[in-house]
Amino acid sequence: MAYGLGLVKGLKYTFTRAMKTVAGDFKHLGRRYDETLLRERQSVRGTGIFTVQYPEEKPAIPENFRFVPFLVYEPKLDANGKPVIDAQTGKEAINLERCTACGICSKVCPPQCIWIVRATTPEGKPKPKPAEFYIDIDVCMNCGFCAEFCPFDAIKMDHDYELANYERHISHIFDLKTLMKPATYHARIHPLDFKREEDDRKAKEAAKAAKK
Ligand code: SF4
Ligand code: SF4
Repeated sequence: MAYGLGLVKGLKYTFTRAMKTVAGDFKHLGRRYDETLLRERQSVRGTGIFTVQYPEEKPAIPENFRFVPFLVYEPKLDANGKPVIDAQTGKEAINLERCTACGICSKVCPPQCIWIVRATTPEGKPKPKPAEFYIDIDVCMNCGFCAEFCPFDAIKMDHDYELANYERHISHIFDLKTLMKPATYHARIHPLDFKREEDDRKAKEAAKAAKK
């Protein structure tokens, strides 16, 4: 084989791929992140190289995407069934925290990055809610075990992956205030999971009513 022929062949392949990429970009101009098209372009049938121009462009995140967990609370609703906004926090006001501080999530967490302090009454009796709840997001490996094992659907995996900043010792230890997100947010990012929870809840209520 002539000396350098392999190199030429390799460059030809690279050049062809590059041209297919440019042709594909022109062909799909304006709808590169269309969900169906994205699946096609990233499959074995796709031609050229497809890269996401992050952060200007962000493809849709699938429901089961897992990033640092958050705690779910039921929001307060007004007379029309709409969430009431807390003037101080700007977030939906808390009606009920799902977390009972049972501690299962912290026990199953492989890198042990969850710390929980259970709330108590003035007499010192334990209350089924956390007084403090911390997750070290630099240690969290996003495995989702906490969400899998929580018996109260109180902890879920988030979709917010843009958490980088210039300080990691304080701001990367998420506390209760940071971790709390309303069930409406959970429903928005996990529509299928939320529906399953609602169906389970309704089925349990119906079974209870039938017993009575
Ligand atoms: S397992 Fe669920 S209910 Fe128990 S402490 Fe963790 S988040 Fe709270
Ligand atoms: S996602 Fe995994 S590593 Fe992160 S807090 Fe939950 S159990 Fe721990």
